[in-house]
Amino acid sequence: MTTVQSPPAPPTATRPRVVARTGLFAVLAANAAVVAYFFAQAGFASNALIVLGRLAGLYGALVMAFQLVLVARLPWLDRRIGMDRLTSWHRWTGFALLWTLLAHAVFISFGYADGAGVGPVTELVDLAETTEGVLRAIVALGLILVVGAVSARYARRRLAYETWHFIHLYTYVAVVLAFTHQVAVGTTFTASSAAKAYWYGLWAVALGALVLGRLVLPLWRNTRHQFRVSAVVPESDNVVSVHVTGKDLDKLPAQAGQFFLWRFLTADRWWQANPFSLSAAPDGRTLRLTVKAAGAGSAALRHVKVGTRVFAEGPYGAFTTLHRTRTESLLIAGGVGVTPIRALLEDIEGHAVVVYRVAGERDAVLYDELRDLAVAKGAELHLVTGPPVPDKLAPRELARLVPDIVERDVFLCGPPPMMKAVLGSLDELGVPKRQIHFERFSLAG
Ligand SMILES: Cc1cc2nc3c(=O)[nH]c(=O)nc-3n(C[C@H](O)[C@H](O)[C@H](O)COP(=O)(O)OP(=O)(O)OC[C@H]3O[C@@H](n4cnc5c(N)ncnc54)[C@H](O)[C@@H]3O)c2cc1C
Repeated sequence: MTTVQSPPAPPTATRPRVVARTGLFAVLAANAAVVAYFFAQAGFASNALIVLGRLAGLYGALVMAFQLVLVARLPWLDRRIGMDRLTSWHRWTGFALLWTLLAHAVFISFGYADGAGVGPVTELVDLAETTEGVLRAIVALGLILVVGAVSARYARRRLAYETWHFIHLYTYVAVVLAFTHQVAVGTTFTASSAAKAYWYGLWAVALGALVLGRLVLPLWRNTRHQFRVSAVVPESDNVVSVHVTGKDLDKLPAQAGQFFLWRFLTADRWWQANPFSLSAAPDGRTLRLTVKAAGAGSAALRHVKVGTRVFAEGPYGAFTTLHRTRTESLLIAGGVGVTPIRALLEDIEGHAVVVYRVAGERDAVLYDELRDLAVAKGAELHLVTGPPVPDKLAPRELARLVPDIVERDVFLCGPPPMMKAVLGSLDELGVPKRQIHFERFSLAG
């Protein structure tokens, strides 16, 4: 048996995620300060409600621009923060935005109604009829309320991903309406050409980031690489591996642990894009995904034909060796969560322990590959089988399998209940948070 041990990777001194997060929020804070400056420079209205309403409107719009950057899928941010975290921030800032814009509408209506001596509804109708841009703002707020309602957890769980996503696209209409409303009636912008120039610049950057990340980059990459299915390999009754080739794949900046949004251009499924991780480290010639049938889209991949064109957006995700802090690692996979773990094992340097948790041996897809890789890399592999209860990855069991666990980076991917339990075990064992890296197979929370 030959044991090839790569030299250990040096621990990262500056944590890429912290750098990106600090940078992102520093930019937001700086813009909040600039907005406050221009707001104060334009002078205050005599009615406090109007002052509050205008300020809420300005900050609401700033948050809206920030929202676009969060979902722009810019590679630099995505690799450091991860699409799951960025999407989760987008979700929570989305709710904050909704309340801020509601506050804007309520304060402004009550404030102007106070001055005119009429009721707030009468005042709002009057403003909509007589002031340019107000009707647009009301429509924009209505759209954002609808998007907020369908994004609430209760509704989100009951809607198909595609339906929810389609409704969500109306936010872009709201963004355009809200922006034109602001530059038309916002006193901060009508009073100062510098403020107006700043506002146009801010929105140009936010929209530019979105167009670049969501449109230009994916189109450019797909035109350049021309992805196609090269093989479809059943791994078990409900799991299949799809191999994809293309041109110049060595120029594609994909890393083990990352995923793509895959759209297989068949007559009946071209409209559906699903996230699947790479199940092997990219070798410059092919990409491989391994898919468990969860719904109609993933089940259909078993029947996809060799030669089918593929539109792949990505690579995305921060579940990579970029975030390593230690020289040794522990990779924990549960079920089909083995896909990025299998790819990472290929890529990882330093001693690795792999724990693969499945119900029974038959469910351990890609196990032979893992075993061969473990032998080649001098890694330790544990296949843990059995029903979910008793918890075989409880703190005591994990510590027995990996006695030096607190000294290792831990990479974890599996079904949500298993991940929750393992994260609890790691916490109890005192593994520092910065050493724990995980990928959830869900984006929209
Ligand atoms: C980052 C990531 C990596 C993943 N890697 C793998 C993998 O390597 N192997 C594997 O078998 N599964 C993986 N999944 C899960 C896989 O994406 C879903 O099982 C698949 O999309 C289900 O689609 P469907 O059409 O078969 O089922 P549906 O019934 O249409 O969807 C089932 C659920 O999947 C989720 N989903 C569907 N489409 C999307 C989408 N475009 N974006 C986000 N969520 C979506 C939704 O929560 C939906 O409710 C991954 C998921 C994520 C988020």
